[in-house]
Amino acid sequence: MDPDTDPAAATATDPAPDPSLDPSGVPASVPAPLATVASASATAVDRRAVLGLGKLWLTGFGVAGLALAQPLRSGAALAAQRRPDRKPESPANARRLVMLDPGHGGNDPGAIGTRGTFEKDVTLDIARETARALADRHGVAARMTRQDDRFLALDERVALAREAGADLFVSIHADSAPTADARGLSAYILSEKASDAFASRLAQQENQADRFGKPGAAGSRVLKDILLDLTARHTRTASLAARQLLVEGAGRELHLLENPMRAANFAVLKAPDVPSVLVETGFLSNPRDEEILCDPAARRVVARILGREIAKVLSSPAFA
Ligand SMILES: [Zn+2]
Repeated sequence: MDPDTDPAAATATDPAPDPSLDPSGVPASVPAPLATVASASATAVDRRAVLGLGKLWLTGFGVAGLALAQPLRSGAALAAQRRPDRKPESPANARRLVMLDPGHGGNDPGAIGTRGTFEKDVTLDIARETARALADRHGVAARMTRQDDRFLALDERVALAREAGADLFVSIHADSAPTADARGLSAYILSEKASDAFASRLAQQENQADRFGKPGAAGSRVLKDILLDLTARHTRTASLAARQLLVEGAGRELHLLENPMRAANFAVLKAPDVPSVLVETGFLSNPRDEEILCDPAARRVVARILGREIAKVLSSPAFA
């Protein structure tokens, strides 16, 4: 099978070239968790990076905040951060598989920020870094529904998660919010009835992604009309737990949207047998979120937080 079309090839062990790699090609690894800035193992660079992001995300952004995140890109700093690979926190996690779904792609750019940032690029980079964090730091296998800039219909994304037998599906987005001042991270699970009008409009906007595909292509694989009440109870319970843990965990460091645990009728969350969550890492319609999401170092910090929290989700009772 052509590795470009084989979702199984999209593992974290085969990341795209990354400027954060040093000349030896060894991925930079910083101590986890990033929150533990007081940890004796945390380097000064980590502290600056975390504090920089905190400043960016929690109190707004500015030249100072961006400058604080810059040392992450320095080769010398990366060498100082390198650590041996970690063992899985839980032996059970070694057998877990997460399907990460970078939203949009190909001729569907997703949201476009005022600075010209394409959502499809932000989501691909965050997914790639999250997959790497899961594999390198938490011993969790991760695949991606797409590992390059290509269009995938929504139900193709669902089918890839089901065919892989994924334990968890996480769709990653950075959409345009229905209101311009909305910013921060939020997470959605499937519900035929949206949690609020904002969530409903976002899902409608998101579900239109298939219009970028070839006519007749959408719906060709599975799942046009999976009814919510056919969804296994486990899937529902596990999706709820995943949303809660991801939001609570990420919220310790990242700015959250108001009422960040939401629900709406997202087509991409309709796998009946794979717990599924859609994470809006922020909104490109908000200048402050866009400034963060278009910064590679800040995205890497976001991805490491997501990787850490996804690993915790898989160790939680709902996934036992
Ligand atoms: Zn999106």
